[in-house]
This record gives sequence, C-alpha cells and structure tokens, in this order.
Amino acid sequence: MHGAPLTLHNSLTRSLQPFAPVDPDKGVRMYSCGPTVYNYAHIGNLRAYVFVDTLSRVLRWKGYPLTHVINITDVGHLTSDADAGDDKMEAAAKARAQSIWDVAAHYTAAFKSNLRDLNIDDPTRWSVATDHIAEMVAFAERIAPEHCYELDSGLYFDSTTVPDYGALAGGHDDAGEGRIDPVAGKRHPQDFAIWRKTPPGETRQMEWDSPWGRGAPGWHLECSVMSLQYLGAPFDIHTGGIDHREIHHPNEIAQNQAYCGCSDTGARFWLHNNFLVDRAGKMSKSKGGFTTLRTLTDAGVHPLAYRLMCLSAQYRSELEFSADNLLAALTRLKRLVMTVAALRARSAGDGDATKAAAYRERLDAAVADDLNTPRALPVLDELLADKKLTPADRIAALADFDAVLGLRLGTIDRAALRVRPAEASITAETIEARLTERKAARAAKDFARSDAIRDDLAAAGVEVMDGDPIGWDWRSTIG
Ligand code: AMP
Ligand code: ZN
Repeated sequence: MHGAPLTLHNSLTRSLQPFAPVDPDKGVRMYSCGPTVYNYAHIGNLRAYVFVDTLSRVLRWKGYPLTHVINITDVGHLTSDADAGDDKMEAAAKARAQSIWDVAAHYTAAFKSNLRDLNIDDPTRWSVATDHIAEMVAFAERIAPEHCYELDSGLYFDSTTVPDYGALAGGHDDAGEGRIDPVAGKRHPQDFAIWRKTPPGETRQMEWDSPWGRGAPGWHLECSVMSLQYLGAPFDIHTGGIDHREIHHPNEIAQNQAYCGCSDTGARFWLHNNFLVDRAGKMSKSKGGFTTLRTLTDAGVHPLAYRLMCLSAQYRSELEFSADNLLAALTRLKRLVMTVAALRARSAGDGDATKAAAYRERLDAAVADDLNTPRALPVLDELLADKKLTPADRIAALADFDAVLGLRLGTIDRAALRVRPAEASITAETIEARLTERKAARAAKDFARSDAIRDDLAAAGVEVMDGDPIGWDWRSTIG
C-alpha cells in the first residue's frame, strides 16, 4: 500500500474507519450487490456502480490486489423488498410473454454494455443467482434447525435468533417496520423468507426442489451464499445502495451470523452509496418511463459526462439529477478533453510525472479520505493549468488521474464526445459544412446569409455557438 492511509465510512458503526484488509495475503475481497435483471438499469442504479468502480480503482491504485464479485439477481427479488408480491423476473417475463432466461440474458447484456460505456471495469467474477441454487439449499439446510421455521408459504428466518438483528439499519423504527408486508403466520414482522414454496396449483417458470418443497430461494440468500463461496468469511468490503442498509443487508448479516454461529457480520466494512434523485420521479425501474443511460446518449450526451457528474459529488451525498447538472458535467468534460488535447499538441517527448508529485499526493489525499472525488477534480484542473510544469510533464501526470477517476482523458478525443442525438435530422458532416459556409459569409460581411444559415441549423436542432469560451462551435438542442 502506498500513499495516504485509506479511510472509509463503515455503515456498521456510522463512522469513518481506517481501512486494512482482513488477510493481507488475500488482498482485498469485495462483494457488490448487483442488478436485478428484469428491466434496464436506470441512471440511479448506475451511480451505484460508478461508486463501486471508483472504490475498486482507488484500492488497486493504492496497491491492493483486488478480488471483486458482483452478482446478477435473476431470481427471488419480489416486487416489494420484503416477502410480498410476485418475483420481479416472473412478472416481467409474463408481461413480455418471454422466458425468464431470455429476459435475464437481454437485461444482463444491456447492463454490462452500460458499464462499458461508463468505463467501469469488470469485476473479477460475475456471479449469477440461478447458478447457485444447490449451494443456497445447502446453506439453508445448515441454518434451518436453529434459525428458521416453516409455514405453508415457505421457510422463514426467525430474526430473534441472532444477536442484535437489524443493527446495520440503526434499529427498526415504526416507519421501517411498516415497509415490511405481513405474511400470514410470520413470528415477527422482520422475519424474512429463505425459501418460497410455489403455492399449490401454481407453476412458476423458475422453481426447484428443496427439503421444504418445490419453490425458489428468498432474495437475501444469494448474496450470503455467493460472497461466502467466492470470498470466504469474513471478507473486506460489501457495497450496495443506501436502500439496502435497511432490509437486504441486515438480512444478509443475520444469515451470515446464523451460518457461522458467531456474531461476525460477514464483511468488515459495509459501504452504501446515497441515491441519485430526480424531482421528475424518473428513477423507478418498476414504474417505467425512467431515465436510462440510453436516454442520455439519445439526447447527445456522452456517457462519460454522466460519470463525471457522479464524481462531482461524494458517494455518500445525495445527488440531484437535472438537465442543468448533466450539461454542466458535459461542458466540464469537454473543457478537460480540449485542455489535454492542447497540451498534447505542445508536448515534446516523454514527460516526467515525478515533477508533478505534489498533485499526485493531493489526488491521493482526496480519494483516501472516503473517496472524496469532488475534492480531487479541482486538483486535476490545477495540474493541467500549472505553467511551471512543461506540457509533457502535465500529460505524464494525467495517468494517475485517469487510473483513479476513469474519465479516459488520456485517450478520448474531442470528436468522440460529440454524440449525435437520436432524433437529429442532420449529420455532423452537414453541420460542419454549413458552419464553414457561414464563416465565409461572415468574412464577406454577408450577415443576412450568415443569419439564415444559423436559423436553418436552429430548425434542425443545432445551436451555433459564437465565441464559446471552450471553442465549441455548435451544440445540440435536442433532448
Ligand atoms: P436493483 O437492480 O434494483 O437491485 O438495484 C441495483 C443497485 O442500485 C442497488 O445497489 C441499489 O441500492 C442501487 N440503487 C437503486 N436506486 C438508486 C438510486 N436512485 N441512486 C443510487 N443507487 C440506487
Ligand atoms: Zn445483495
């Protein structure tokens, strides 16, 4: 490990703690709750993975070998986070008249493609829930005698059989309990399904045999089972969105404690990203009409602008999504890319990154402080603008910022940032040709013609930007 000591906020203690791996020989072992693949990810979901990617990058950059598992939930997540409603996958497959396996394959591929567009690195292992049914049954068999009880509807975990149930959630208040839908016969409102029996007379697309009858696992089981299988216990870091702090992760912890017969929670650090919020309410996968990465690219916004928007807030702060915030990030990204291009054009030979060591240290200090990316971004601006360093030295020092922030500033070029809006009726080549024509008209003082060209372009959804400080001559107004 090099640089400033890494401090992370542990939801278990609600405090910042110095991070060190449980077993340094094993490097850092991390598990991240993955998507439920019954629909496309919305941009709020993707914020969770930009956070996880930033954490992974910081860990690797600081010299820790990383083993990272992300699961794909293709069974068990019900339309409520508790035990009521249909399985989201079953419901989606029924609505689309498709097999669950086709639905899962489609949305898994779409999710991975979103991650690639956001320059999010693949984990060491993608782990699919339905590939682990036998292991889930074996886990349930081991904890059942002391921790579970059977009802007609399935096998339930008795939350009073483990110490301090729900400590992660900070105790269950009335509002919290109100979210847990009643299941007939449950001993305590917080008890949760380990195995859900298929009701008599019904068949489900996804069902398996078990000692408790034909059915499907409860949602929380998969994460305990797959993290234990691939990382061992206790492992180092478990991540998820802040909603998981209330039900899903307390239930994982209860299962882990039952399995080990100890009070260990399974992971040393539980990290939760706060939500991306949208006043227009377009952040619910189950409601439809939500904002996806595709919505942004269809409007002409490069995906890395969304990544930069995420990085402009610390992961534990709520982040508001708005067109203004997104366009501000796009402008900031363009400015960075243009600055880098200009420096590269002025660079002669290989630079020396050690000349910029002070910037590296400031980057390190910012991200070692619970991933404070908003503090790291101005350091990058300062580095690029530092006239005491040669352009080549500044470019060489960029590698550290790219490794940590993942903005691809070293490789992306200005043209690649120009995403063509889906509804655009005009090609980039035509726009450039008309702008050249307009420039000639202005040079000849033919202002009527120059204005006419500007109006034509405006009608096609293109705003001409005279005197734009960062040198963009047009922008799309579609979206
Ligand atoms: P899901 O696909 O619903 O299982 O969620 C995938 C991940 O996205 C989980 O870690 C959630 O906690 C997280 N998440 C859901 N909504 C948001 C949001 N609006 N902002 C940030 N993270 C979210
Ligand atoms: Zn999980």
